[in-house]
Amino acid sequence: MAIAASAQNKLPTSRLKGILERLGRHTESSAKKRGACCEMLGRARTGFVILTATTVVFCYFVLQHTQVLHLQQRRCHIQERNKSLQSGTCNNTVVETTTETKRGTRDCCTNCDMYVGVRPSCITRNFTGPWCQVIRQKRGYAKVKVDLASRSLEMLEKLHGADLDPGGLYRPRDCTSSQRVGIIVPFRERSLHLKVFLNNIHPFLKKQRIEYMIIVVEQAPGSRLNRGMLRNIGVIEGEKLCKFDCYFFHDVDMIPLSNLNIYTCGSKPRHHAAALARWNYVLPYQHIFGGVVSFTTELFKKVNGYSNMYFGWGGEDDDLYNRVRYHNMDIERYPMKISRYGDLKHHKSVAQNSRYSYLKTWKARVEVDGLNSLKYNRHLVEFRKLYTWIYVGINEQEVLISI
Ligand code: UDP
Ligand code: MN
Repeated sequence: MAIAASAQNKLPTSRLKGILERLGRHTESSAKKRGACCEMLGRARTGFVILTATTVVFCYFVLQHTQVLHLQQRRCHIQERNKSLQSGTCNNTVVETTTETKRGTRDCCTNCDMYVGVRPSCITRNFTGPWCQVIRQKRGYAKVKVDLASRSLEMLEKLHGADLDPGGLYRPRDCTSSQRVGIIVPFRERSLHLKVFLNNIHPFLKKQRIEYMIIVVEQAPGSRLNRGMLRNIGVIEGEKLCKFDCYFFHDVDMIPLSNLNIYTCGSKPRHHAAALARWNYVLPYQHIFGGVVSFTTELFKKVNGYSNMYFGWGGEDDDLYNRVRYHNMDIERYPMKISRYGDLKHHKSVAQNSRYSYLKTWKARVEVDGLNSLKYNRHLVEFRKLYTWIYVGINEQEVLISI
């Protein structure tokens, strides 16, 4: 039926030819149109790519320029500051910035010399009331409640920071402390210990009604840890901040266990950390002088501080003991029960054999190697809520060849 119908509707050949011709022309023109369209699209794509590339290059130059401006501003600021520091007019300058201290940006401070945060107000210290009474207890050892929980720094700041001045400075408000004590902590990569230390040392010291400041001296990477030098630096930098009567040199992993272990200085250098859990609370040898020791500022200066020659673990404490004896001084200790400390666990540091040769020649170096011959780069001093942070660089080769 369908074939029959198509046969009935058959078109004449001439008309069919016409239709086909028109159809051909139409296809040709749409192909042309399509070609033109594609060409346009292609041009648009190239245009878009060129535009994007130009925008990227433009943005890059703008960013570079901004950064260069920022760096120039910074350099200017530091130069100005150094100039005024040299001329002695800038002692109390306060540089308010917080961005410098974030971990990732520390490196940019390699050659800076900056104080960050509000400087603690300990320059003037007058007698303003009754002397603070130190704890007096005849019997027992007034056990400290140690808290070994791991807490965030923010939490610790909330717990202990309310009555502290910037830089971890504490001053009893209702009485005058007989001494101002700088607690110097050599430090590198022991942040868990530092948090436990801060959590315990602040309540311990506040209870003793002592004016004190916690000073953490951190050595930048690049050379072996020099504990003696960091302690010396703590004193030299501490003296620029406040007038301290007494210094404690305190390992970050030592937690005092008796409230009768009073943190003021006596007339002799004192060895505090004499009874450690790891030694079953028995003194290993008579002249041991590490962990926690205290000196009046005057006596520490007299012995010329620690030797700067001991890189890596060991030696600097025994050297210091020799210096004390050389100056005809004795050391003293509280009774063993009072000298108890909890020592936080860590991997044993690698002992350095080089310490033996320096220990043999200690006497020749007393006068020329110590507080009076320190060489270091002070990168940053930052007054944090719970402590003052002093970040320094030490060039081991330079120090070792200097003597
Ligand atoms: N220290 C540090 N990071 C180290 C090694 C030592 O901060 O990697 C500091 C810290 O204050 C520590 C002190 O130096 O308590 C004494 O070092 P260490 O604890 O290794 O000595 P040891 O316990 O063997 O006497
Ligand atoms: Mn230790």
